[in-house]
Amino acid sequence: MQLCQNNWEPVAFLSVKLSKSQQKWSTYDRELLAIYISVKRFRHMLEGRDFIIYTDQKPLMYAFMQNPDKCSPRQWRHLDFISQFSTDVRHINGTHNAVADALSRIEVNQISNSFLDFEALSKAQLEDNELQSFQNDEKSSLVFKRVPSPVSATELICDTSTGSPRLFVPHNFRRTIFEHFHNLAHPGVAASFQLIASRYVWPNMRKTVKDWVQNCIACQRSKVHRHTKTPLGTFALPDARFSHIHVDLIGPLPSSEGKSFA
Ligand SMILES: [Zn+2]
Repeated sequence: MQLCQNNWEPVAFLSVKLSKSQQKWSTYDRELLAIYISVKRFRHMLEGRDFIIYTDQKPLMYAFMQNPDKCSPRQWRHLDFISQFSTDVRHINGTHNAVADALSRIEVNQISNSFLDFEALSKAQLEDNELQSFQNDEKSSLVFKRVPSPVSATELICDTSTGSPRLFVPHNFRRTIFEHFHNLAHPGVAASFQLIASRYVWPNMRKTVKDWVQNCIACQRSKVHRHTKTPLGTFALPDARFSHIHVDLIGPLPSSEGKSFA
């Protein structure tokens, strides 16, 4: 992240899946691995700069002060590499690290959203015609159940057909939810849908999400949707001796029959 007019703004994201054996490592080792991989990946941005590494793993703050003999060879290798760029490791509370969490919690499937007004949502669910017709539709594979709300005494209607409850979202709340999940890293249609559909349900969700992603101004500004290819140019053939022709040289190319220019 970089400081931009007093706001910390993300510059780049990185999300890597741990291998089977890495998943068995201690939290400390996995967190250290994450730092190692990130520094390695963003080396071109970090080289020669002062930067701070934030982690929610407190013991890592003291990693560079401890006796190196206590490190395992792997820890030592990771610390050694990281220290070539920065030894400034500081602690950040997991709850204050929403941006990183958005990536690592993608697989977690829970309704835990402080950005929603659950009381208003519960009230809207009761008045929602779409939900009623959904519930009465015998062909639908969704199974609606009342689930206690995480914050208030109210109950929320959720679809439980996928194993973990997905909240039914009345019309007025859909955009807020879309923006909450899409605006973190502006994923494409499929990834945005996946993020939202694992937690929520509403009629024609795939189409709504697709339309909103395709109309997202930030996405349009920064993503390349169509690659235009310029057709090959043609030159008029010379019709007399000693007239000018065009010559282009390209190379060096991988050598072919001992020649590397074309
Ligand atoms: Zn977007």
